[in-house]
Amino acid sequence: MKILVINCGSSSLKYQVFDMDNEEVLSKGLVERIGIEGSKIKHTKTGLDSITTETPIPDHKSAIKLVIDALLDKSHGVLESLDELVAVGHRVVHAGEKFATSVKLDSKVMAALKECVPLAPLHNPANIMGIEAVTDVLPRVSQVGVFDTAFHQTMPEKAYIYPIPYGYYEKYGIRRYGFHGTSHFYVANRTAEILGKPIERLKIITCHMGNGSSITAVDGGKSVDTSMGFTPLAGVAMGTRSGDLDPAIFSFIAETEKLSVKDVDSLFNKKSGLLGISGISSDLRDIEEAASRGEQRSKLALQVLAYGAKKYIGAYAAAMGGLDAVAFTAGVGENSVTVRSMVCEGLEFMGIELDVKKNNVRGKEAAISSDSSRVKVLVVPTNEELVIARDSKRLM
Ligand code: ADP
Repeated sequence: MKILVINCGSSSLKYQVFDMDNEEVLSKGLVERIGIEGSKIKHTKTGLDSITTETPIPDHKSAIKLVIDALLDKSHGVLESLDELVAVGHRVVHAGEKFATSVKLDSKVMAALKECVPLAPLHNPANIMGIEAVTDVLPRVSQVGVFDTAFHQTMPEKAYIYPIPYGYYEKYGIRRYGFHGTSHFYVANRTAEILGKPIERLKIITCHMGNGSSITAVDGGKSVDTSMGFTPLAGVAMGTRSGDLDPAIFSFIAETEKLSVKDVDSLFNKKSGLLGISGISSDLRDIEEAASRGEQRSKLALQVLAYGAKKYIGAYAAAMGGLDAVAFTAGVGENSVTVRSMVCEGLEFMGIELDVKKNNVRGKEAAISSDSSRVKVLVVPTNEELVIARDSKRLM
């Protein structure tokens, strides 16, 4: 049973093909610069070298056609015929309150996703374009939508309602939605598997820390709170996003600097976070390197990032009334020994004790807490594509 997983952005498209009989990745690739000069496709068949082809790719439909050609290619392909493809699973960013689980895509679901466009104006249109392109090119293949917001639909009202006039929730759906749900779901469940305990009996905090970061409280397998909010701008400081702020800063900057709403929005989304504090880079590797050279503001950026994450861990342990495990994932969480140790430092009082040697690990599953640590701390590389493939298989 072969399943194609697609993560479609406005000018890029990532794909993977799984053989779901054994959950093996047969092939993966990336189409870049769709609709822009210099477009290309990089295709890799597992076990062989990647092939990069530069060719004009004017739109998403052409991108999907190229992907299909690559998958059917005699030497680098993984399909003999399109009939082998049982389903296409798509990552979709926002499903609002409409879907709490993955669903098979049909015209009703598509209409619902289009209604969610105002909630994710940058992401949902690209996801929808990807789905429509697949419908055009592969009209007979079933498609499944897996939503970043779905896992967080179990949050209680007290966690998702903002203390602003209630009418804005009713009128515009302004509430906490949360993102990275597929990743938090995977990492929490994998954490339970590694610990050999049923997830229903565990209180886990999953720290997805990458360019974008979010932290989630997972109680008994359900998301009960998460740091991103109405948009992915909320929560901990990120590569270029500010994370949580005093909301009055928005109007203060707009008025004193004579900036438009759009300008301040862009300032908080694209010029803040690690980049804003350090003035050097949004990339944590650059920040760590600058901090090790003694750059004060890069040191400060690291401290702000880690302190923010630490506070969420404390808050979510309080929200759940206990804590069994903390799991780090995504680019920073999986790779930064420094950030993990700064986040956990000083949390011994609540049973979190890192083992310095075990923490010296990058990009692979590992338990990094000491044997005596009451709360287990783990590194769990995320695998959103596998969740999408599994959900697609389940729904077929
Ligand atoms: P995205 O949110 O775009 O998916 P990623 O999860 O790939 O991002 O995370 C990107 C971040 O991970 C960058 O800040 C990058 O510097 C950081 N990162 C990747 N590898 C390392 C490493 N070896 N050490 C420290 N940070 C790393």
